[in-house]
Amino acid sequence: MQKKTKIFTAGILIILNIYAWQNVFALYFPHNLKVDFLNVGQGDSAFIETPEGHQILIDGGPSSALLAKLSVNMPVWDKTIDLVILTHPESDHMQGLLFALQKYKVGYILWSGIKKSAPEYTMWLKVLDEQKKMGAKILIAQAGQEIKAGNVLINTMYPLKSMEGQEMKSSSNDSCVVAKIIYGKDSFLFTGDIDTKAEKQLVNSGENILATVLKVAHHGSKYSTSDLFLENVKPAFAVVDVGKNSYGHPTPEALNRLANFGINIFRTDKNGDVVFVSDGENIIKE
Ligand SMILES: [Zn+2]
Repeated sequence: MQKKTKIFTAGILIILNIYAWQNVFALYFPHNLKVDFLNVGQGDSAFIETPEGHQILIDGGPSSALLAKLSVNMPVWDKTIDLVILTHPESDHMQGLLFALQKYKVGYILWSGIKKSAPEYTMWLKVLDEQKKMGAKILIAQAGQEIKAGNVLINTMYPLKSMEGQEMKSSSNDSCVVAKIIYGKDSFLFTGDIDTKAEKQLVNSGENILATVLKVAHHGSKYSTSDLFLENVKPAFAVVDVGKNSYGHPTPEALNRLANFGINIFRTDKNGDVVFVSDGENIIKE
């Protein structure tokens, strides 16, 4: 009886061991691009892992909730992130990054370089400086910029010209970094909180804004996601990063426009984390 138990235990250990190694291999060689729109409440955050294992974080959401999400997506020993993009320095996009940048060492940080006066903005400059001292390279966003992560391309599309040093009196939504992540035939357009004015500028800019998946701008505000923009992006899927809020996000107006174009809509408040996996040819929503 005792012997049987031992054999059984050994069997379980071997299976667990194989399972653990499979996970390790999956982490190092996922072969696919994985884009995870994190459910972090009212705010934006997405964690991306490339086929070569590069890790990219776009925005950090409104709180330390991001840290729990990262610990699920990254092995415990991994304390580095290759690229962090801050679309704009507003709390609902930046606060989580303030926590993450104190725990993880970052290779590249892409942001607009605008000026603001707010306590969290001062904190952002401080963590940026600490990352710089650890060797991070700071990139100021400008349309046409291309970053390569293996076979994955990160293409900056907005702002059209560098806004470095420009002072933002109120909202910094007009200064949002818009970036497209491209892997083979599939692409993801991250729009931050841009409004219809910036959408129009993007359409007229001549940049290729076609995308398979659209991160819906400004949590589904009615002042974003115009028909003109949707006609030109032509997404198959749309993701609304949204949580409990008093702004009425996502608005029926934005949701109706998306629905009228026959776009599949996912929302983090209803669907939780929204994950897409692409092999560069085909894309699936997990
Ligand atoms: Zn926002």
